[in-house]
Amino acid sequence: MGVPLFSLEAHHAPLQSELAAAFARVTRSGRFILGDEVERFEAELAAACQVPHAVGLSSGTDALLCALLSLGIGPGDEVLVPAFTFYATASCVSRAGATPIFCDVCPACFNLDPNDAARRLTPRTKAIIPVHLFGQAAEMDALTTLASKHQLALIEDAAQATGARYRGNQVGSFGHATVLSFFPTKNVGALGDAGALLTRDPDLARRVRQLRMHGESDRYIHSELGGNFRLDALQAALLRVKLPHLDAWINARQRNAARYTDLLAPIASTPPDASCTCRHESADSPPPVLILPAAYPHNQHTYNQYTVRVSGGQRDALRKHLAALKIDSAIYYPKPVHHQPVYAGHPQASETLPTAERLATEVLSLPIFPELSAAQLEEVAAAVNAFFT
Ligand SMILES: *Cc1c(COP(=O)(O)O)cnc(C)c1O
Repeated sequence: MGVPLFSLEAHHAPLQSELAAAFARVTRSGRFILGDEVERFEAELAAACQVPHAVGLSSGTDALLCALLSLGIGPGDEVLVPAFTFYATASCVSRAGATPIFCDVCPACFNLDPNDAARRLTPRTKAIIPVHLFGQAAEMDALTTLASKHQLALIEDAAQATGARYRGNQVGSFGHATVLSFFPTKNVGALGDAGALLTRDPDLARRVRQLRMHGESDRYIHSELGGNFRLDALQAALLRVKLPHLDAWINARQRNAARYTDLLAPIASTPPDASCTCRHESADSPPPVLILPAAYPHNQHTYNQYTVRVSGGQRDALRKHLAALKIDSAIYYPKPVHHQPVYAGHPQASETLPTAERLATEVLSLPIFPELSAAQLEEVAAAVNAFFT
């Protein structure tokens, strides 16, 4: 039968008439840049995320850049980032003129290892960007402590984790600024590129609104170097249709994850310890074959991805096996950021970050989208089972 990694068609089918009505409303309004639709979306997003201020922006990437610029991060500054993440987390630090310092990650939850981050502090360290990778919050207790102790700006990269919680609090309630992405396959997706910045600080929100309008402090008076980072009115209107479904979609993803875990547990190695310590696995642990994603009880994992690990050098063989059965899977991410060609001149280009490098060879993301049917999910699980047995 075959299973896609995501079906935007199935995702949008029930919303088709509402999306068309939103499109018609914006077309008739003649207001395509910022304006009422964007303001309403910002208010609805802030309420949904339980954060006082949300600023609509052109993408998650631009939101990261705005977060750094609005917090005054620039040349001479160092910013701690995980080495295992989507490239934009680090590239925006470089675009702001600062230096990303790559930290290793936890093998169980895949997120920034607070102990490794602490080891990399210098007098130039000005900020830290934990990423809530695949939809699960990073270890925010340790990271907020680290940030406040060393007076670092804390930017949450929640691009994959809209709606996720850590110890009952939504992501976005920890950082000075939090970045969301509405790339079509994220937890809430636009019908194009879009993003947002969340903050509790009204001055920071004002600064970001200025940055997204070319740093304009008054009409055609440019007080700082900003850019065109605006959210389209059309995307805001379409996102207003989709945002109310966030919880239902997260529930569906969680239901799918639980079902995968049930079906795959018999062939998987013991799941990692239920409390995240973000410490490296001991070197003498036996090499497991299939490792299921760890979801900690103190987290509400939103499963933007269901990412398994395949050790013993068999990941690519499993992916081929699935592809032969027309089951899509993806490798997020095949190369850690410190090994990207663009960072060939970075002081850490030849450094070894063992967990990040190992994960790049072991991770495989399986279809987990909300509309995945029970039959499709069973087909994927059976195919994975057949590979290992
Ligand atoms: C998607 C993503 C981004 C960038 O968001 P865009 O909207 O695609 O620009 C940044 N960081 C992470 C971790 C992401 O997954």
